[in-house]
Amino acid sequence: MARPRILVVGAGFAGVECVRRLERRLMPGEADITVVTPNSYQLYLPLLPQVASGVLTPQSVAVSLRRSERNRTRILPGTAVGVDPAAKVCVVRTISGDLTDRPYDHLVLAPGSVTRTFDIPGLAEHARGMKTLAEAAYLRDHVIAQLDLADACGDPAEQDGRLRFVVVGGGYAGTETAACLQRLTTHAVERYPRLEARRISWHLVDLAPRLMPELGDALGRAALDVLRRRGIEVSLGVSVAKAGAAEVTLTDGRVLPTRTLIWTAGVAASPLVATLGTPTERGRLAVTPDMAVPGAPGVFALGDAAAVPDLVQGTEGAVCPPTAQHASRQGRTVADNVIAALRGQPLRPYRHRDLGLVVDLGGTDAVSKPLGVPLRGLPAQAVARGYHWGALRTGVAKTRVLTNWLLNAVAGDDFVRTGFQERRPATLREFEQTDAYLTAEEIRARTAR
Ligand SMILES: Cc1cc2nc3c(=O)[nH]c(=O)nc-3n(C[C@H](O)[C@H](O)[C@H](O)COP(=O)(O)OP(=O)(O)OC[C@H]3O[C@@H](n4cnc5c(N)ncnc54)[C@H](O)[C@@H]3O)c2cc1C
Repeated sequence: MARPRILVVGAGFAGVECVRRLERRLMPGEADITVVTPNSYQLYLPLLPQVASGVLTPQSVAVSLRRSERNRTRILPGTAVGVDPAAKVCVVRTISGDLTDRPYDHLVLAPGSVTRTFDIPGLAEHARGMKTLAEAAYLRDHVIAQLDLADACGDPAEQDGRLRFVVVGGGYAGTETAACLQRLTTHAVERYPRLEARRISWHLVDLAPRLMPELGDALGRAALDVLRRRGIEVSLGVSVAKAGAAEVTLTDGRVLPTRTLIWTAGVAASPLVATLGTPTERGRLAVTPDMAVPGAPGVFALGDAAAVPDLVQGTEGAVCPPTAQHASRQGRTVADNVIAALRGQPLRPYRHRDLGLVVDLGGTDAVSKPLGVPLRGLPAQAVARGYHWGALRTGVAKTRVLTNWLLNAVAGDDFVRTGFQERRPATLREFEQTDAYLTAEEIRARTAR
């Protein structure tokens, strides 16, 4: 008899945790496991702002999928571009550009999310994201390039635009990005004799009335105080009305000359979820508490891509927030449920009590709330770094990160602009490949053949 085929889409927090648990718990020969992933690493996203600000090298947050010889999962290098749940086929575009159909018995969908955008004029062309390793590396180069160009030019108006940086999104991703990159420019300016530190300005903008509401009032205010003390201008209740190559217009009417618009205003589920044709909740795939997708036999979904009911919160309709903490734990539960489904056993619902949030604002500045205990400053930073360090999957990744932290603390940054992505189109669509997906009709036409 042919072995059951388990196909996992995505090798992020949810996908990798699921695959590793399947490898450990399935008996040899009980099933074939394949993971579809465009990259051969798991990206540790929460440390991405530290890559952009040069505290960590890109490689240290890219955790290898081929670290151990015990890892027996087949890696299919590519992107799943559509699923036909009726035919039980997933269509994959491999990194060579070819389309291939992958039949499955059990499908685990963990493709994560993409940057959420709105229909704002100029946004698609001029906004830069913080969701992929390439985007973080691009942003670092871009910010350093603005300093280099401002230093070299004599026109005060051009200098003004190059030395102003706008970040949209007051969640933890946007706040950490603004805080870490502002630190980069503050330190960098000492190496640019013709630039004055007071001419560099950072703006953090959010439509919500508070920063990171999940931190609670006191810690949210503490984070705001840190940012303002450092000179970052925080505008709440405001968004972007229009974006251009050299300026951004805010909804309060202000026009800010700038060459840098960093867009971190939330996430939307991967476009892959729309190809299934099953119900969604605010764009995330609707799933049962055991993370099965109703109407799609053999399919499970989890992580940022799925609206997993939050049974611990107990509120009607509550779903788990899109965090790494939930995604990795959901990965383990889904692995157990796939094995249970294989063996004809009952499935288990997902439950996890949130452990809290950590926000690294660079240096000794941080706020965190482990298990509900509010911390700020050095203790918060120790918790934040300790948490991330412990969560990295491999000893090599842990060593790289620790060494980078130590080196950066002792020797600072070199402010090197690599130029690797200079000629590359830098839009969110290009970096996050949001247009890679097939339509439902294209998928059905393929599977019908
Ligand atoms: C800057 C930043 C800071 C953050 N900080 C924190 C934090 O401090 N704490 C926290 O808990 N969370 C944090 N998060 C959120 C957290 O990273 C996400 O919630 C988590 O990564 C979700 O896990 P996932 O497995 O669903 O998706 P991901 O980890 O994003 O993994 C998805 C994977 O699927 C791959 N993929 C995408 N599409 C396809 C496809 N079509 N086919 C095949 N593969 C595909 C991707 O390449 C990726 O490897 C942060 C996020 C960002 C961006």
